Amino acid sequence: MAEKPQPVRVLYCAVCSLPAEYCEFGPDLEKCKPWLIQNAPDLYPDLAEELNSKEADKVGEQLQSTGISSPASSAPKAEEVKRLPGGKIKKKDKKEVVIEKVVRNKRKCITTVKGLELFGVKLSDASKKLGKKFATGASVVKGPTEKEQIDVQGDISYDIVEFITDTWPDVPETAIFFIEDGKKVPAV
Ligand SMILES: [Zn+2]
Repeated sequence: MAEKPQPVRVLYCAVCSLPAEYCEFGPDLEKCKPWLIQNAPDLYPDLAEELNSKEADKVGEQLQSTGISSPASSAPKAEEVKRLPGGKIKKKDKKEVVIEKVVRNKRKCITTVKGLELFGVKLSDASKKLGKKFATGASVVKGPTEKEQIDVQGDISYDIVEFITDTWPDVPETAIFFIEDGKKVPAV
């Protein structure tokens, strides 16, 4: 706050009884404001403007509070669940692509790609593209959970993310994960 030259005649605030220029340090500037706007507009030139925008805010708040509460605030969005026969609730599969490097038979490395089908990608088509791109064998196989996945021969984890997002723009980079040391980590 810049020092203002003391006015010859000190104007005392009728609300907080401080000199008007000290109202902002007083107990409640908000209460002083109406008086200040009326009696000391030169000291607080911004007040009138501020008050106007405050009023506008208030009107906005009132409109919001009188309106029907928005769906977002009414209830936390329940996680999508589906009921299995017997009433068991199963979490809906997350839409994500999970890439895992698997070493089989000691030296043979395979990169598995799971979940592309969740983004409308045809796995047989994807498998062909991956094989071609990385000049290696790739095939659609049933994984341990009977779900189809793509096995690509060799370690292609180094630039598979770029390839996936370039080839299938519907797959967001943020939906791609790697399994590293048994942990799922985001690709980006
Ligand atoms: Zn005051």
